Amino acid sequence: MVEVPTSSPHAQTSCAETPRPGAGRHVLVVGAGAAGIPAALAALEAGARVTLVDKGQRAGGMLWGSGAVLSAAGTDLQRTRGIVDSPLRHAQEVWRAGRHRAVPELLALATTHAAESLAWVQSLGARFTAESPLLLGLADQHELYGVARSYLLEAPEELGWRRGPVLAEVLVGALAPWSASRQLDLRLRSTVTRLLVAGDGTVSGCRVEAAGGSTTDVSADCVVLATGGYGASPQWLRSLHGEYDQLVTQGLAHATGDGLVLGEQVGGGVVNADIVVPSMGALEDPDHPGFRLAEGALPVGRPPAVAGDIWVNAAGVRFVAEDTESPDVRERAILDQPGGRMVAVFDERMRRGLTPAVADWTGRVLGDPPDPRLVHSADTLPELAALAGLPADALVESVRSYGQAVTRRADPLGRSRMPTALTVPPFHAVPTVSSLVVTFAGLGVDGGLRVVRPDGRPVGGLLAVGELLGGGQVQGDGFSSGMSVTPALTLGRIAGRTAAGVDPRGLDRRPHEVAADLVGAAGGAAPGGTAPGAPGGGAA
Ligand SMILES: Cc1cc2nc3c(=O)[nH]c(=O)nc-3n(C[C@H](O)[C@H](O)[C@H](O)COP(=O)(O)OP(=O)(O)OC[C@H]3O[C@@H](n4cnc5c(N)ncnc54)[C@H](O)[C@@H]3O)c2cc1C
Repeated sequence: MVEVPTSSPHAQTSCAETPRPGAGRHVLVVGAGAAGIPAALAALEAGARVTLVDKGQRAGGMLWGSGAVLSAAGTDLQRTRGIVDSPLRHAQEVWRAGRHRAVPELLALATTHAAESLAWVQSLGARFTAESPLLLGLADQHELYGVARSYLLEAPEELGWRRGPVLAEVLVGALAPWSASRQLDLRLRSTVTRLLVAGDGTVSGCRVEAAGGSTTDVSADCVVLATGGYGASPQWLRSLHGEYDQLVTQGLAHATGDGLVLGEQVGGGVVNADIVVPSMGALEDPDHPGFRLAEGALPVGRPPAVAGDIWVNAAGVRFVAEDTESPDVRERAILDQPGGRMVAVFDERMRRGLTPAVADWTGRVLGDPPDPRLVHSADTLPELAALAGLPADALVESVRSYGQAVTRRADPLGRSRMPTALTVPPFHAVPTVSSLVVTFAGLGVDGGLRVVRPDGRPVGGLLAVGELLGGGQVQGDGFSSGMSVTPALTLGRIAGRTAAGVDPRGLDRRPHEVAADLVGAAGGAAPGGTAPGAPGGGAA
């Protein structure tokens, strides 16, 4: 059973101001993804009637394109393998990886109940691979945890690393009996276009536009927003992270930040606009601007720099050891480059000698012949520089000094894998941009998941969960394996129960203790001026 923390100053009130627990309550959940479906199921289990609205053709949201690696401490699977771990340790590691920017109460809530979420999805039919838990989540994308606490879903081989569809099917399957019993009204291809507000300012329902264009107002005792992130919205990307002028998403097209708009309309505030955690080296899909070319990124899924390429910024200058093992170091380095862009530079010998590890990436990009929309090729470096929009002198100098480093076996940037200098024409340049797996700004909530105004006061009748909160509030300023899907499940279930008006009194104090430890470790306040328990800093 999951509960809201006693630590929250607002924990003793449920979503609506006058809770009528369980039966008779109507909960409206917007968004049927990793957060919204668990919220709907938890509210149903608590006896509420639920309307679950999603603008997509099918429920499941981002899980259809996600790796869905989960992370949790204190699970049966860890115990079976003799792995000693605790939610406190999990929270501490995420807290550090996120540079102390997470909201302690939310991180504590998510980690304390993560093991229950794993057990819950297992009870619904999900299975984890025999080697789970692993130390590594998805290869090359996140810093390692100190102990094995990443779980891979058992999935058919053809799904590859994208195992999320398995979880989507499990969650969608769990909705079916509730639809059949009519306690759940699942409305697909239906978009929530605005929130309805009662005279006292409390959210009282939503306006829903169905695919055919018909519009209905649906009233509810509590609304849970679970509309996901904003990676597919050029408008939100520009307004929140405009300095990175060409961010692309690795996600699906529905993630347009609708919940941010809905939340702002009723006074909610967007927080953590200053947090962007990109994967570097993505190729924008020329057929779908704004989206990453499928499997089209340099460092993900291959040993970095295995082909010997060098990476230069817009000034034509190398800026990071291309073989650095730390994704975090790479991500920070690319954030410091203008626009978050870089260009990978190869010579013909490298293109021809590419190992199978890079073949997926290169098949379409550097194949025979290379795709001219994605790669520039020229017989001389100055010509290449002109095609790629780089200063010729700087590029020539970068290639020359890298060649010297290869000869001396000593690189000023500390690169150790340097198979060969770039000497064999034609030369190739692949311009790349930064890509987002998860968006980190989000709608500010308090420790009870209630949407809050910029001054911290809650908006009555409105909860928010999932990626809509942004990675920043739960993880902070940095990636931790499994810390998007697992908190979406966990906080989703908590929000569902809260929305159903379940009395949160008499709860265990574990989340409170974990949060207190995090705050204590940070010397009483999170860096960046964010007060503990308040929504994350950097309000937009
Ligand atoms: C390539 C990739 C790999 C990933 N791998 C991992 C991983 O291994 N581990 C991990 O923890 N996380 C991973 N993530 C992130 C994780 O999958 C997402 O953060 C998570 O699934 C988001 O769940 P959500 O329910 O918050 O939002 P979503 O799943 O995005 O669901 C939101 C739903 O709301 C609906 N919606 C939006 N607006 C409206 C509206 N106005 N009206 C009605 N409906 C609306 C959408 O149609 C959608 O179905 C990955 C993401 C990507 C893109």
